[in-house]
Amino acid sequence: MQKLTGRCLCEAIEYEITGELGPIFNCHCSKCRRWHGAAFRTRATIKSSQFKWVKGDEHLSGYHSSENTVKTFCSICGSSLISTYDESPDKIGIPLGGLDQAPDNKIEGHFFVGSKSPWYEIDDGLPQYDEFPGSHAKVRETSHQE
Ligand SMILES: [Zn+2]
Ligand SMILES: [Zn+2]
Repeated sequence: MQKLTGRCLCEAIEYEITGELGPIFNCHCSKCRRWHGAAFRTRATIKSSQFKWVKGDEHLSGYHSSENTVKTFCSICGSSLISTYDESPDKIGIPLGGLDQAPDNKIEGHFFVGSKSPWYEIDDGLPQYDEFPGSHAKVRETSHQE
């Protein structure tokens, strides 16, 4: 079984994930872009039972970015750590940027492409979704095919 570790920039906080990550997507929503200061956030959903803080959890801070979502970050260095959901306490959103190793599974596509950065062009050929991939999400052609 895969075991992954991750840490924040100042290394005060360390965490461990046991088992394979859920589907990995690049999220282009404006909240993820602002939270990470980047064109997009590469993230996966995992089960809460797969995750544990190894060190430094006394340095965690949280911010309610929406009614049901808490963004957890390091209060020393400000690194973005995990997302938790008040209505789904069994799940955690994990950004891949803090991991020490490569996960076994690969990035599956892009979501919230409808609100992506105007200065960033997606050209990897992976599926793109205006919002979440699902029954009412519109699949877009990748930009290099347009
Ligand atoms: Zn830190
Ligand atoms: Zn997002």
